[in-house]
Amino acid sequence: MRVELLGVRGSTPAPGSDFVRYGGHTSCVAIGPDDGPPRLVLDAGTGIRRLTGLLGGAPFAGSILLSHLHWDHTQGLPFCPAIDRDDAQVELWVPAQDATPAAELLSRAMSPPHFPIDPTGLRGSWTFRDLGIGEHRIADFDVTVAEVPHKGGRTFGFRISDADMTIAYLPDHGPIALGPGPEGWGELHPAALNLAQGVDLLLHDAQHTVEEFAARAHFGHCPADYAVSLGRAAHARTVVLFHHDPARTDDQLDALLAQLQASAGPGGPRVVAAAEEDVFSSRGLDRGQRGSRDGPDPGRGDRGDRSRCEPAAPPRS
Ligand SMILES: [Zn+2]
Ligand SMILES: [Zn+2]
Repeated sequence: MRVELLGVRGSTPAPGSDFVRYGGHTSCVAIGPDDGPPRLVLDAGTGIRRLTGLLGGAPFAGSILLSHLHWDHTQGLPFCPAIDRDDAQVELWVPAQDATPAAELLSRAMSPPHFPIDPTGLRGSWTFRDLGIGEHRIADFDVTVAEVPHKGGRTFGFRISDADMTIAYLPDHGPIALGPGPEGWGELHPAALNLAQGVDLLLHDAQHTVEEFAARAHFGHCPADYAVSLGRAAHARTVVLFHHDPARTDDQLDALLAQLQASAGPGGPRVVAAAEEDVFSSRGLDRGQRGSRDGPDPGRGDRGDRSRCEPAAPPRS
């Protein structure tokens, strides 16, 4: 399995010089075999625009799974040439809710007068499917779908496996809705633990700092610290802090990461902060070079080096 991060930001894109190292595109992850093009995409935030470059001019043929329907997970759909062309073949899975067909759910936000076309106006062969909880086989991967607490509509977390590697993806997660949990950031509840159990990579909501969380708990997210706690409890090998707050600058993310790496403790998971173009592969199970899809020595990327540094500064927020 090869996992490439195309968008790692939460809520809304974050362009500008303060955000260039981690990137400003909203949530999107491309998954494929080690030796082939991506055929499974998680979420369709603005990061999905990068899929076109990954495919080198070829159309996308595969499946897109939406964790939920918030703008930061869907607004890239009409702006990705690789999926909007006559020879594209796309199966789009939408969390089933309200007894409403998938394309109709999407069209509530994507149709005139909000947008020039509705989902059926995208070019190529599109199939819109209702996604439910349970076990699925999608794009030749084993996919487990579970409902997780968030805010405003049904939200899913995913566990995705092939023979070599397993990842969990919970980009938007507000476990405080189920109770305070051991540290006051939310319950380490069964659905989250089951998705994350023993995974190689846990890509998890890291929207807030603990300091911010007190005033923002009702937003439906969690502190980055919760991601590390869940990873430790579920014996995840690596926790990837994901869905960064759009106001979190590169320098602030460096500091937050250093703090959490220190808190992970001996025997805890490795902790990294998601950045656009990061690659994780079953070939070495480590972070690849940024911008290099086939770096010969995975783990020598620029932020990969930084991730091994000692904590340098306290977080600024
Ligand atoms: Zn989101
Ligand atoms: Zn959301």
